[in-house]
Amino acid sequence: MGKVLLNRLEDLFTEKNKLWANKYPKIWMFLILDIIYYINEFIEKGPIVNMKYRKMGSLDWEVSALGFGCMRLPSRRLNRLRADTESSIKLIKHGVDLGINYIDTAWFYHLGDSEKILGKALKGSYRDKVHLVTKLPIQIVRKTEDFDTYLNRQLKRLKTDYIDGYLFHGLNNGTFNKMKDLGLIEKMEKAKDKGLIKHIGFSFHDTYPVFKEIIDYYDWDIAQIQYNYMDTNFQAKTDGLVYAHSKGIAVVVMEPLKGGRLVNPPAEALEIMRSAKSKKSPVEWALQFLWNRPEVGVVISGMGSMQMVDQNSEIADRSGINTLSEEDEETIIRLAKAYQDKILVPCTACEYCMPCPSGVNIPQNFAILNDAYIDTSKFRSWLTRRGYKNLAGSKGKLDRENPNGNASMCTKCNKCLEKCPQKIAIPDEMEKVHSILGKRGRISDHYKVN
Ligand code: SF4
Ligand code: SF4
Repeated sequence: MGKVLLNRLEDLFTEKNKLWANKYPKIWMFLILDIIYYINEFIEKGPIVNMKYRKMGSLDWEVSALGFGCMRLPSRRLNRLRADTESSIKLIKHGVDLGINYIDTAWFYHLGDSEKILGKALKGSYRDKVHLVTKLPIQIVRKTEDFDTYLNRQLKRLKTDYIDGYLFHGLNNGTFNKMKDLGLIEKMEKAKDKGLIKHIGFSFHDTYPVFKEIIDYYDWDIAQIQYNYMDTNFQAKTDGLVYAHSKGIAVVVMEPLKGGRLVNPPAEALEIMRSAKSKKSPVEWALQFLWNRPEVGVVISGMGSMQMVDQNSEIADRSGINTLSEEDEETIIRLAKAYQDKILVPCTACEYCMPCPSGVNIPQNFAILNDAYIDTSKFRSWLTRRGYKNLAGSKGKLDRENPNGNASMCTKCNKCLEKCPQKIAIPDEMEKVHSILGKRGRISDHYKVN
């Protein structure tokens, strides 16, 4: 924080300014008044940030490099799933004051509180300062008419006449088919014609082939993907990022810190950061990796405290396309590797082993297991076990279109074995996955861990 203030003061005392001040002593007075102004502003408002703005696909938007994700707002004291109105409003306004002009929310966030709070926070002059993006909760849409019901309720919650970007929430193979079957793109277009929404897009959670199919299906404005230096080969992957951008689609990156995991690196990764020539915090390494890429439009971070907003904004201030040196890129590759080394099963989610005749989502099961190992905090461990529980554990719950079986569904047919380029003993590993995640076994009973 102090660094930004010092930089600003350094800017004041350029050689040219000093020369002029020596020639005309009154100029010193103005310079001193400027210093007092900056220090006062710093004390009152926090850091002085020169937010960087970027082009977003073919849209005529100049978006702040940092977007405000409203899924991790300050929570209520007695219900951590709900958001606290007063502190959240303060936080959002503070972010906008620092130059953030892209705000992302969704029907489900904070059980509906997120959209309602945003409505209150943006009421008045703040609304016009931001690009407001929310999402159709396609998972709970049952019939075509539900589209209007949700959109109208969201407009009311957000206290606005229009939404700048309306996205299908979390498209995967299943919800993509639902979108087509119910004619929801047509509904989006009608809403756009009426001026209720300005741009159409989707957020995404599935594999690259599905992503490509979705991208090729429609002339989208916005695609929101999970991406960070650990996920270059996961879900949409780098291929998806590049492909969407090549089509002029504005790419929004979510989970830049992999759900907070990249904030607390394992010891090996910390050592790499310490020995790197360029000194950056774990958060900065993760964010600058994204902003370095020309394909990335905006990076949304779910921020829940003033400190996070200030810190991320300051990092955004130092961002830019192709600003990382070759050495920096090398460091990031080493960091990703250090994380990989903390991974129990080296699955790259290439999906060569799929489909499994028993409906097991093989890479998904490994991803959940690896998540459970990297972060053993109570909350994360609860989340990962819940992720496992959400997969199907019986034939009746299997989704034929979108493999969703958990490891217990593996019949050890061995059909996947030959296909894995990583030579993972998939059936044996599946047994371990289920022992750990399904039967609450200890990781150390199945893997050699430190
Ligand atoms: S061994 Fe298990 S995971 Fe592999 S294809 Fe057969 S049932 Fe599926
Ligand atoms: S083939 Fe191997 S590396 Fe690829 S998704 Fe399957 S288990 Fe993972």
